Amino acid sequence: MIVVTCRKLTELATKRQEGDLPLLDRAGIRIHLAWCTRCRNYLAQLDLTVATVAATPAEPVSEDVHAQLMAQFRRRRTQQTE
Ligand SMILES: [Zn+2]
Repeated sequence: MIVVTCRKLTELATKRQEGDLPLLDRAGIRIHLAWCTRCRNYLAQLDLTVATVAATPAEPVSEDVHAQLMAQFRRRRTQQTE
């Protein structure tokens, strides 16, 4: 039997969202959710977040905002590599 802990469930959550879980992992998650309220809430929140983001129309970003974001990304990348 596959034992899914709370930590393991959070690790599998992304693959679950992508529909990319083997049958045994899906069964382990289902058993875990039968008794773990926290993980049921966690997955419900994750599902809601994904659905909300998917339903939100993409808005164009102005050139000024785009330039500011790119400058911040470059600064962070530089800081991470130093
Ligand atoms: Zn749990």
